[in-house]
Amino acid sequence: MSPDTGPLHAEPMSTAPFGLNDAHFPARAPQRLEVSFEFSPPKTEAAERTLWETVTRLTPLRPTFFSVTYGAGGSTRQRTHETVVRLKKETGIDPAAHLTCVAATRGEIDDVARAYWDAGIRHIVALRGDPPGGIGGKYTPHPGGYANAAELIAGLKKIGPFQISAAGYPEKHPDSANNEADLDNLKRKVDAGAERCITQFFFEAEDFLRFRDRAATVGVNVPIVPGIMPVSNFQGIQKMAGGCGSKVPSWLAHLFDGLDEDAETRRMIAATVAGDLCRRLQSEGVEQFHFYTLNRADLTFAICHLLGVRPQRSPS
Ligand SMILES: Cc1cc2nc3c(=O)[nH]c(=O)nc-3n(C[C@H](O)[C@H](O)[C@H](O)COP(=O)(O)OP(=O)(O)OC[C@H]3O[C@@H](n4cnc5c(N)ncnc54)[C@H](O)[C@@H]3O)c2cc1C
Repeated sequence: MSPDTGPLHAEPMSTAPFGLNDAHFPARAPQRLEVSFEFSPPKTEAAERTLWETVTRLTPLRPTFFSVTYGAGGSTRQRTHETVVRLKKETGIDPAAHLTCVAATRGEIDDVARAYWDAGIRHIVALRGDPPGGIGGKYTPHPGGYANAAELIAGLKKIGPFQISAAGYPEKHPDSANNEADLDNLKRKVDAGAERCITQFFFEAEDFLRFRDRAATVGVNVPIVPGIMPVSNFQGIQKMAGGCGSKVPSWLAHLFDGLDEDAETRRMIAATVAGDLCRRLQSEGVEQFHFYTLNRADLTFAICHLLGVRPQRSPS
């Protein structure tokens, strides 16, 4: 750089990026964060290759578990099962199978759960699921089915001592009349046997922290794990957020403004935004993070690195 084209500001540059300095994140004893990674079952051979490349990259981070989603209306029942079983066999990391109540009788859902138990799968992410037309429509339980996640959890516990994770909503579920009703529902899920609450994605740390405080006041005494969605496709996230009641703040729109044709910069922004969110939560004592990977490794890996989660040798 020639003197003529040097920086216009006179301030000395900080050696650390904003938000990553010791004042914001004081040194502390090394802490092993727990991370978990969510995948969806692949639909095509190409998608399957991408997923297993992702799994190969993320496995050395030794997540607490991998989880695999269950398509609307049970549409991925078989593929979810196959993916979960393969994860168990090939990675040595405990997988969790998502399971919903939609479009099935209790007996059918119990059969799916028994098949997991027989395959050695001990962790279920138990969900109600959305109405077949997507969120926004009125949810009607299947006649003879489980009415909601709390009922499903109680049913699963009768089949075997599964470890159960349930969903939570920092900005409340769109079907809940208010925060109080939403927390009552979360408490019912914990009382039925959920041992962990994984949250819907959100972008403001304060929304999560207030939710965590409210949950504690109603006696929800299980870990509340933030669901982190690294955003690199802004339009896609806006659509998804509209569907599940998460706010997309205007500052996030501003950050992605003008980058429609610039995927590389979008990815850098995505890692920065999600990394910042995680570190803010970490500074408030959060020690577990669940990543919505969208079956891609790069952003999740980068954010884990920022958080100090590094590849480990597998125990021999
Ligand atoms: C971590 C995570 C993973 C997910 N994975 C999947 C997946 O794999 N597949 C999928 O299809 N969807 C998935 N979802 C989406 C989820 O299915 C939807 O958000 C769904 O609309 C609600 O599911 P739930 O388990 O929270 O429902 P529930 O906890 O049963 O309840 C949802 C809402 O219904 C109302 N409600 C429930 N019970 C009662 C009651 N007794 N009285 C009054 N109101 C009641 C409340 O308003 C409540 O907030 C996931 C969500 C999260 C956060």
